[in-house]
Amino acid sequence: MPSLDSVVQIAARIFGMPVAAVNLIGDDHVFFAASTGFEGQRVDMRRDVSFCAHAIARNEVMVVPDASRDARFYDNPLVTGFAGVRFYAGVPLYSPGGLALGALCVIDSVPDFDFSDDDRARLADLAQMACDRLELRRLEHSTERARRPFEDDARTSPTAVVWFDESLRVMAWNKAAASIFGHVPADGPGRLVVDFLAERHRAAVGGLIAQAAAAGTADGLVVPDGLAGVRKDGLEFPLGVALFCWRDKGKLTFHAHLQDLSSHPGQSAELRRLSTTDLLTGLANRASLYRRMEEALAGSAGACLLLVDIDGFKDVNDTLGHGVGDGVLREAAQRLVECVPSLATVARTGGDEFAVLIPGCTSHRESMAAARSIVDSLAEPISVNVHEIRITASCGLAAAPGDAQEALELFSNADLALFKAKSYGRGQVFAYAATLRMEATARRLYSIELHRAVSEGEFVLFYQPQIRLSDGSLRGAEALIRWQHPQRGLLSPAAFLPALENGPLASVVGFWVLDEACAQAAHWRRCGATDFRIGVNLFGAQFRVNDMAAEVAATLQRHGLPPHALELEVTENIVLDDDDLVLGVLEKIKGMGVGIAFDDFGTGYASLSLLKKYPVTRLKIDRSFVQSTPESERDTAVVRAILDMARSFDLETVAEGVETEMQRDYLKDCGCQEGQGYLFSRPVSSYEFSESFRLRTENRMGKLA
Ligand code: C2E
Ligand code: CA
Ligand code: CA
Repeated sequence: MPSLDSVVQIAARIFGMPVAAVNLIGDDHVFFAASTGFEGQRVDMRRDVSFCAHAIARNEVMVVPDASRDARFYDNPLVTGFAGVRFYAGVPLYSPGGLALGALCVIDSVPDFDFSDDDRARLADLAQMACDRLELRRLEHSTERARRPFEDDARTSPTAVVWFDESLRVMAWNKAAASIFGHVPADGPGRLVVDFLAERHRAAVGGLIAQAAAAGTADGLVVPDGLAGVRKDGLEFPLGVALFCWRDKGKLTFHAHLQDLSSHPGQSAELRRLSTTDLLTGLANRASLYRRMEEALAGSAGACLLLVDIDGFKDVNDTLGHGVGDGVLREAAQRLVECVPSLATVARTGGDEFAVLIPGCTSHRESMAAARSIVDSLAEPISVNVHEIRITASCGLAAAPGDAQEALELFSNADLALFKAKSYGRGQVFAYAATLRMEATARRLYSIELHRAVSEGEFVLFYQPQIRLSDGSLRGAEALIRWQHPQRGLLSPAAFLPALENGPLASVVGFWVLDEACAQAAHWRRCGATDFRIGVNLFGAQFRVNDMAAEVAATLQRHGLPPHALELEVTENIVLDDDDLVLGVLEKIKGMGVGIAFDDFGTGYASLSLLKKYPVTRLKIDRSFVQSTPESERDTAVVRAILDMARSFDLETVAEGVETEMQRDYLKDCGCQEGQGYLFSRPVSSYEFSESFRLRTENRMGKLA
């Protein structure tokens, strides 16, 4: 189903997973209604091995962090076989009648223990979107069926249908329709269709039909709620109407599905209102926003969609409690309604996410103005109980038809713009541009390529020597990753690290680097560099896997390397990311005797205070300070201060980016122990490194096995 493609693509993108799918469950097989990431793979679709069949058995999000360690799945062919499923998260999809149809799922080939409650909620939201799509498809389908000539099977259909022409004359109605009104089928033809409505509704409905006749389509037409029909005996009853029309041999024919709502209490207006309303704020809910988008986009006037997200809302909830959080959301909802035109739809689409649909607004300039006034009004203090709360909000927007023709596309483009706005910090507004889609596509492509790089062993390590400044001797090397790309040649980390670092492969690659670098170091130590030390950069993600300290210990043991021959390099970003967790792991590792170097030291904000708190053994003075030493007084002062600090904390030092003899001599005079930089050598392959330092080796290039 093409209309579900964007749902699975959004799912894959939001969660950074290689595979996402909407599966429909049959009696013994599972079918893909839509999928991304399975291209060219043959997948076992038997129902009894399907994860989704498990997911639909429970009315909630099912998360399997590591299938190989899950009693239900460890021996499942999807886990042990070629598909290699490790992580699975899925949500059941229900029909409006409550029947479980299938599931929306995201899948990864590596375990993931970080799927948060927020992630679950987002996946559930997307599942709702998929359900809407399925339901729309069903409606479309029934419309298509309804377009068949009356003679077919309509006469006996249990659905009440009436056919009429542009002049409102009834051409035919079936038995079911006639009996709703207490008539027999012969009573219908020739009469005005509006005559079967309560007097007070006739003009409005007549006008609506005239409008559709002029436009040649009933798409985008909203039949008002609360219509009343009149029975033959004069009694009124609540009537539901769905209107369609089509042109046949030049003649416009209308077609109404009718429902006597008094005999369908489940469909009463109140129930319908509830099912389209967000209970907390009274705004439209996501499903009804979605329908309004479909309506707006079916017409010709266009519309813009603003997605508004409160920055750091979690903090409000965490610090002031959910009661206050709810109050903030209600007030935010109120303000949104006040600052947008009255024909706009304001909806709450998620926990702290709102959407505003403004029909007829098609320019970025106009939409930006609306977005700014929203962001400004939310920035005003909010009082809840005794608290005065200040929040900011970010907004992404997209306009149709310029940015998108289709509702889901409009939503997903506004979402990309929101993602961009958030990346600029708080309180930002960003409009969709085609480059955002290209960036997103590039990210997706890149993630596919990165998977291949891992499985095909395209990463290699280069080594850059670290030199003792007092006598110029080799102390060790830093291992630096490169990507031997089959088409683009040797790539530097700058070209792929951002994608790798934030994706699901970071820890896999990180531990490969550790293993490969340790193997190389052990080899060089055996080749004569007996005190050789290897520096390995870490990714933040490596700290979040099961037991990183144990992983490090096992690696050392595997290669017969003493702990002091390894130095792990961490940056401030890693350290600040997840304070307590990282701290505990580093302490353990340092306790084993492994060195911990603080990388890029001096570039961050919190470095000084961190030094006291963190178990580090060495500072790596950042290249930016070394570069302008000794010419720049300021940078020279920083270098001296860092060296002083290192002495007082009893830490070792290495200066990065040493390019000139003058820099080397100056650093040596200031008491810096080691240097690393182009003056000594650029990062080189293990082969070149062995040659330069006469460490005879059997030419291993450090390929990822
Ligand atoms: P870094 O850890 O600060 O690594 C030092 C970077 O400075 C390297 O860039 C190196 O080539 C460059 N460099 C060394 N000497 C000089 C010099 O004299 N002048 C100049 N201008 N530059 C010099 P590279 O190899 O491009 O790596 C960039 C960054 O990528 C690294 O910065 C590190 O943060 C990250 N990285 C590289 N390999 C790995 C890895 O295996 N794992 C992780 N987690 N990060 C890595
Ligand atoms: Ca480094
Ligand atoms: Ca560095």
